[in-house]
Amino acid sequence: MAATKTFGVDAIKEAISCGITAIGENRVQELMEKYPHLKGQVDFHFIGHLQTNKVKYIIDKVKLVHSLDREKLAEEIDKRAKQKGIIMDCLIEVNIGGEDTKFGISPEEMHNLVKKLEKYDNIKIKGLMTIAPYLPPEEVRPYFKRMRELFEDLKRINQRNVEAQYLSMGMSNDYWVAVEEGANIVRIGTAIFGERR
Ligand SMILES: *Cc1c(COP(=O)(O)O)cnc(C)c1O
Repeated sequence: MAATKTFGVDAIKEAISCGITAIGENRVQELMEKYPHLKGQVDFHFIGHLQTNKVKYIIDKVKLVHSLDREKLAEEIDKRAKQKGIIMDCLIEVNIGGEDTKFGISPEEMHNLVKKLEKYDNIKIKGLMTIAPYLPPEEVRPYFKRMRELFEDLKRINQRNVEAQYLSMGMSNDYWVAVEEGANIVRIGTAIFGERR
């Protein structure tokens, strides 16, 4: 998945012509601006922190929300998805490094949150996402390993709205390590488009 924040529609179209089939935006406003120009040409993912009052703008535009991290957000996504007659695929965001600056639940909270989400029929829990600590690639490996274990735990949860399929981790700095540790979605920005301005 190409992480396209700050990059323009022309650059994104060029990436699509090179074979990119999914893009990730982390701000609702920016996604809304780009959407009309790219709709139908690529799948949109939402990868940033999502405020509940903005769910209504993206609910019918995105294929996968990577940043589900609290029940209140799930409740809102479920409500809006129901209104549109769709089931929203979501990943649970895990703050694997326990960093204050990052969103996401702690690994220990996963089972609890998943259980609380059982009642939301219009949400499907498709896997996990993390933004790992920014460290040299080899030092990130243990965090990715931990995510993989958590992902295996999720797969073992037998709940009707859980279908663990995606492990979203790895960025320009460390994507190959993430893939070695089991990522099946990597989110790449600068390694595709160059430095963000
Ligand atoms: C920007 C962003 C990326 C991509 O980061 P790069 O280092 O440019 O590859 C990945 N995930 C999220 C959530 C992002 O916001």
